Amino acid sequence: MKITVLGTGYVGLVAGVCLSDSGNHVTCVDVDAEKVRMLQQGKLPIFERGLEDLVSRNARARRLSFTTSVAEALAESSVVFVAVGTPQSDSGASNLQYFDSAIAMVGAHVRPGTVVAIKSTVPVGTADRVREAFKARGLAVHVVSNPEFLKEGTAVDDFLRPERVLIGCEGDEPRHIMQDLYAPFTRSGSPLLFMSNRSAELAKYASNAFLAMKISFINEMALVAERCGADIGDVRRAITTDSRIGGKFLYPGCGYGGSCFPKDIQALVHLGTSLEMPMEMFRAVHSVNERQKSVLFEKMQRHFGGNLKGRTIAAWGLSFKPLTDDMREAPSIRVIEQLLAAGASVRAYDPVAAQEAVRIFGSRVLVQPDPYEVAKKADALVIFTEWNEFRSPDFERLRTSLTAAVIFDGRNLYDPESLRRQGFLYYSIGRQDPK
Ligand code: NAD
Repeated sequence: MKITVLGTGYVGLVAGVCLSDSGNHVTCVDVDAEKVRMLQQGKLPIFERGLEDLVSRNARARRLSFTTSVAEALAESSVVFVAVGTPQSDSGASNLQYFDSAIAMVGAHVRPGTVVAIKSTVPVGTADRVREAFKARGLAVHVVSNPEFLKEGTAVDDFLRPERVLIGCEGDEPRHIMQDLYAPFTRSGSPLLFMSNRSAELAKYASNAFLAMKISFINEMALVAERCGADIGDVRRAITTDSRIGGKFLYPGCGYGGSCFPKDIQALVHLGTSLEMPMEMFRAVHSVNERQKSVLFEKMQRHFGGNLKGRTIAAWGLSFKPLTDDMREAPSIRVIEQLLAAGASVRAYDPVAAQEAVRIFGSRVLVQPDPYEVAKKADALVIFTEWNEFRSPDFERLRTSLTAAVIFDGRNLYDPESLRRQGFLYYSIGRQDPK
């Protein structure tokens, strides 16, 4: 099949590349000429494991190309995926400015009979609105909702081996086209779920809201544990043996970030509000998370007697989760801004997000390529992201590098008792802080 993908971000690039890898001819379009230029040279604008090899293999086989010209791409395509960003607007609603402009570009060049598949996460009713708009202009195209469930860090694998594929559409023709397109990825039995556009759109929000709710649940429980002398690790072990609860996505931490959960929860609250619903649960999920993002800073403030002025803090991990360079809404940003505002200086290390950190903080934070170098003569270490390489560091080297052996761990990577024996003052989430 000949396919166009609009947007070469974390979703569009991965989808386009994986679709070309199964034999389709894919043209990826982006309005960002610099991104397109990089991709044409075989360089990736984002970090995603396994993606670079796939890009070069499929580009070499002439199944994958990159352009800024929608007209050129759409001239031959029978399916066009829209995977542009839908960030949060000031009101909490999705900002559909990029999406609407992508749809306008499609409308100007699309051929009759084309499937327009919406991969971006969009408010319920968007596909119907797009369908009506195309119809009003006499354009006979199929508007399909195909929300994406890949996870940054394992995006390629998630796309190639999805747990399910969701298709919202009307009529048999788009259904059969999408069935054929996804057949290579669902051969091992992953379900291809067909439903209305509106159900598919809402299912995406429901999925993210549930996951965010689990994180806020365990984080609020962690705060309770700290205050009543319990250990969230033990509480977690106890509750997750119940098969109705399960253990996934129930790890206490310094709050969720990323480009999806925060904005999708807000968009869901906005949707409910527009339907005259109070949306109490999802408002709480958001506010618990906002509070959680400040927990590490509050612990640091208490440790340093309320005065961080002149202190140097070393930070390990900046991305919102491991295996990605994405720092959108990352807890690290909130805490580092709080530290800087309090007069502390920050030196930081991340295995892949260094460039992104420099883009965000400029010269306000010293980003260094070695984790032990950032710890040298720092007053404390703070850990924001559970990168594997932080799980068993050289504690002796760390202890002697820091001016004081103090760790604030936003991901509960270590055993408190073991760290105490090794001479550290160790603060973590939902466990008892050192006296
Ligand atoms: P992104 O910000 O990484 O990339 C969006 C890309 O779209 C950018 O490169 C931008 O230049 C491009 N773009 C904007 N307007 C365009 C236009 N008119 N034509 C062509 N390109 C255009 O975004 P992302 O993280 O890939 O997310 C895309 C969508 O997928 C969002 O709706 C998001 O909520 C959803 N989603 C994201 C993830 C994720 O993990 N990132 C997972 C599932 C769903």
